[in-house]
Amino acid sequence: MHKIKTNDYITKTELLLNTVVTINLYDKQDEDILEECFDIIRKYEAIYSRTMESSELYAVNQGIAPHTGLTYSISDQLADLIEYGLYYSELGQGAFDISIAPITSLWNFTSGITQLPDPITLQNALTYVNYRNIKLEGNLLTYAKKGTQLDLGAIAKGYIADRVKEYLISMDVHSAMINLGGNIVCLGEKPDGTPFHIGIQKPFADRNETLAVMDIRDRSVVTSGIYERFFVLDGITYHHIINPKTGYPYRNELISITIISNASVDGDGLSTLCFALGLEKGLELIKSLPDTYAIFITKDYETYYSEGFLDTILLHD
Ligand code: ADP
Ligand code: MG
Ligand code: MG
Repeated sequence: MHKIKTNDYITKTELLLNTVVTINLYDKQDEDILEECFDIIRKYEAIYSRTMESSELYAVNQGIAPHTGLTYSISDQLADLIEYGLYYSELGQGAFDISIAPITSLWNFTSGITQLPDPITLQNALTYVNYRNIKLEGNLLTYAKKGTQLDLGAIAKGYIADRVKEYLISMDVHSAMINLGGNIVCLGEKPDGTPFHIGIQKPFADRNETLAVMDIRDRSVVTSGIYERFFVLDGITYHHIINPKTGYPYRNELISITIISNASVDGDGLSTLCFALGLEKGLELIKSLPDTYAIFITKDYETYYSEGFLDTILLHD
C-alpha cells in the first residue's frame, strides 16, 4: 500500500491478518526482501486463518480437509502452530484453549454490531471446547470429539513474526522492525547502534499516546488489550479474550498486557494467557519464566511491572 523511502529505512504497511502490518528495514534497504516478508505473511495467513474460507484451518474446522474418521492429515506449518497452541493450553490448564473456535465464531467484535450470542447456542458450543480432545502426532491431528474446531488467533501473529524474522536473518538483514498489529519484533538494533524505541500504548487513547517508551534490542514486544476488539452493551465491555469455561469474555482488573520475550510466539501466547489468569497469577507466571518480562495495566490505569523488568529494560518518556 504505502511504501516510503527515507534515508534511515524502507518501510511498507499493509492490512493483513485482520490488522495493520508494518515492516521497516534499516541496514539492508532491499525492496525485494521487503516484498517477500509480506508474501510470507500472506502464505501463513492462508493456512492459519479461522475465517478465510480458502485456508487450511478452515477446511479442517469444516471437516473437509483430508481425513480418515476424526484424524486429519495437516501441513507441517499447521502442525507446528498447533503444537505451540497445545503447549499454552496445557500451561493454562484450559484458561487458554485453542479449541475455543465454536465459541469465538459466535462473537463478533469487528462488525460494529453490539449483540450477544444466543445463550443456548453458546452453552451447546461450550461442550466442544476442551484442548484435551486434541492429539497431534507429526502431521496427524486427531480429535476425540466430533465437532472440535480450532482458533489459533492467540498465537498466530507472534509465530508469523518469528518466521519473518528468521527469513530476514537468512537474507543477512541485521536491523529491522516487524509489527503485526501490536506483535512487534525488533531484529537487532538501529544501524547507528542505538536501540529501537517501542512505546507502551495508553489503553483506549489515540494510537500515538504512550505511557512510556522502552529501549529494545533484539526482542519481541507483544501487547494484548481489551480496547481494540470490543463492544459495550449495558455498561459492560465485551472483548475478544474469552473464558473457555463460560463462553463469555474474561472479566478481571486488566485492560492491557505487554510481554517482552525472545520469541514472539511466546509473547503472544503469554499475553493472552496472562489475561486469562489475571494480574496476580499472570505476574507470578511471568516471574517463573527466564528472560521474560511484562507490564500489566489495570482498569484504574495502574501499571505493574514484572519482577526484574525495571532492572532490565530502560524506560523513558
Ligand atoms: P490479538 O488478536 O488482539 O493479538 P490475542 O493475542 O490476545 O489478541 O488473541 C486473542 C484471540 O485469541 C481472539 O481473537 C481469539 O481468536 C483467540 N482466543 C480468545 N479467547 C481465547 C482463549 N481463552 N484461549 C485461546 N485463544 C483465545
Ligand atoms: Mg496472544
Ligand atoms: Mg496477539
